[in-house]
Amino acid sequence: VAEPAMRAIDSLCPYCGVGCQMTYHVAGDGPAAKIVHVEGRDGPANAGRLCVKGRYGFGYPRHAHRLTTPLIRRPGIPKSVDLDPAAPLAAFREATWDEALDFAAAGLARIKAAYGPHALAGFGSAKGSNEEAYLFQKLVRTGFGTHNVDHCTRLCHASSVAALLEGIGSGAVSNPVRDVEFADVIVVIGANPASNHPVAASFMKNAVERGAKLVLMDPRETPLARHAYRYLQFRPDADVTLLLSLACVIIEEGLTDEAFIAARTTGFDAFRAAALAYPPERVEAITGIAAETVREVARLYARGPNSMIFWGMGISQHIHGTDNSRCLIALALMTGQIGRRGTGLHPLRGQNNVQGASDAGLIPMMFPDYQRVADPAIRAQFEALWETPLSDVPGLTVVEIMDAALAGDIRGMYIEGENPAMSDPDLAHARAALAGLEHLVVQDLFLTETAMLADVILPASSLMEKTGSFTNTDRLVQLSRPVLPLPGDARPDWWIIQQIAQRLGLAWNYAGPAEIFDELRRALPSYAGITWAALETEEAVVAPKFAVDEPSQPVLFEADFPTSNGRARFVAVGPLPAAELPDADYPMVLTTGRVLEHWHTGSMTRRADVLDALEPLPWCSVHPDDLAAQALASGASVRLETRRGAIVLEARADEAVQRGSVFMPFCYVEAAANLLTQPALDPFGKIPEFKYCAVKLSAE
Ligand code: SF4
Repeated sequence: VAEPAMRAIDSLCPYCGVGCQMTYHVAGDGPAAKIVHVEGRDGPANAGRLCVKGRYGFGYPRHAHRLTTPLIRRPGIPKSVDLDPAAPLAAFREATWDEALDFAAAGLARIKAAYGPHALAGFGSAKGSNEEAYLFQKLVRTGFGTHNVDHCTRLCHASSVAALLEGIGSGAVSNPVRDVEFADVIVVIGANPASNHPVAASFMKNAVERGAKLVLMDPRETPLARHAYRYLQFRPDADVTLLLSLACVIIEEGLTDEAFIAARTTGFDAFRAAALAYPPERVEAITGIAAETVREVARLYARGPNSMIFWGMGISQHIHGTDNSRCLIALALMTGQIGRRGTGLHPLRGQNNVQGASDAGLIPMMFPDYQRVADPAIRAQFEALWETPLSDVPGLTVVEIMDAALAGDIRGMYIEGENPAMSDPDLAHARAALAGLEHLVVQDLFLTETAMLADVILPASSLMEKTGSFTNTDRLVQLSRPVLPLPGDARPDWWIIQQIAQRLGLAWNYAGPAEIFDELRRALPSYAGITWAALETEEAVVAPKFAVDEPSQPVLFEADFPTSNGRARFVAVGPLPAAELPDADYPMVLTTGRVLEHWHTGSMTRRADVLDALEPLPWCSVHPDDLAAQALASGASVRLETRRGAIVLEARADEAVQRGSVFMPFCYVEAAANLLTQPALDPFGKIPEFKYCAVKLSAE
């Protein structure tokens, strides 16, 4: 038998925000086409490198669970929050596309007519392309008539974006990851790039080999600690205090860049007064870090000469997440560590298109390009572009939408490529909210936990099956290309969104992603200079690019900041305790996160056989002393319980976590971490406090 012909197709990794370029090697054609292996390409973000997810996580598009035909809930089948993965499809019947689309759109239209436009909401996806994100938010704003549209950035970096927009006028990174080549000092706080952005971590390790000093700050000793010059294992919840004490040292010891502060910033006096209240000697017992170590790190960072800061959800997912980012911005501004190669601020973005989905407008209070819904002049521009009157009411965010659904104020939702029945805090609450909706339309690859609660399910496209632009954590816009044909009757996401729009009365007739991108460029001034032709030929174009002939800006803020007066702004902060502190009933602290082998809620990687074989079962990390105190051995089955729920899973003894803390991944439906987390919100970024709640651990 002749071997099927092999084809090599250049595209992107479907997982994290590093945005690795890769070549897929495919055997066979049509429905028999199969990815055999992949290899890294020499892309600007990865230089040929890939991590285990990119290299081995390509199996999910052809998993047996893949949805290949539209599904409609059978009449009389109730939506149960006790999700039953054993018999998931029994509640649904197969439908034609016309039938499913008519049903989906009619339900949305019925709710709008009965209760008004704000009874509807939509979640778009950071796993989809820029074109899909743009179309989705346009559908919600113009077809539903509300700005109730959001996506998973609300759960990861909304607080960082709020602080960055407020402080320096741009929510994106100032410098790309690979600027670590030029850095003398690299600060990583509240991030675990070795697991979550492994290729980015590899460049950090290379910088350390070259002589850069890496300072890692994290309550959990993550793998990057092995490469760190200093590792600061601060107490959970002491992050703002620690950052203020670093700022205090810089001010006390005269390490500030006064010329930079005078020429390019405002508000320093108030921040200085706030920071001076936290000398490291005074807060040692709070942070758990020796004062002399804080002083040494502060001097290192300030003196650089070039110092760069990376951060992640360890500090963004708190009710004081915005304050954490305000402190990091202040550190960069007060030392002039921004606007040059090897300096700056880099919130490591999670999903492969979370930067682009935010840029494209999947944000309830902002139109594309972070233009405020509440601004009448901006609204008028979008009304002209989209030839439709628009609401003047900023929309609700992810958790607020769940609250409104439970209260009966939101009655219908359209969820594309997101899985809030696994990703939201306090899942019992979120699942009850989803189950209580009168009409839920879900568009996805699989019967996700969210899709199990749907009225109609629309089978969508994976990254390996479509053309689309994706914006990585470095602001690089890159194209995915179809590697496999769509299976069965699955359809491109942009096509499905357009079909819903047409049925809601919108005269949309886009021919495909290139035409959508052309309109997106008119809505996003920062993408106006990026052409589809350039994406097809140059492989990666840096945003922002306001005009076609404008040079690329891999480093932002060299001359000024994109604020109304061109200056950056200090914002004074003080420590705010977590919403729920340990007590006699729930004496430990729970933090959640990701693992190297799995991606977010697991919908893709748990269906990628190689990855699931590596980490197939739920687990939590507990300090050996805490296990010993309960006469438990590593590997014991334990029960974790908070005021919101309880789960049972394996406990692994792990000295990387502090005594009194438990860490667990949130990708396992069998022991869903978010049944335990609590939904208190940061008041500015509206991000939930996934990274801290009180928990009780006991033998099962
Ligand atoms: Fe994919 Fe991120 Fe790994 Fe690169 S680092 S291969 S983008 S998961």
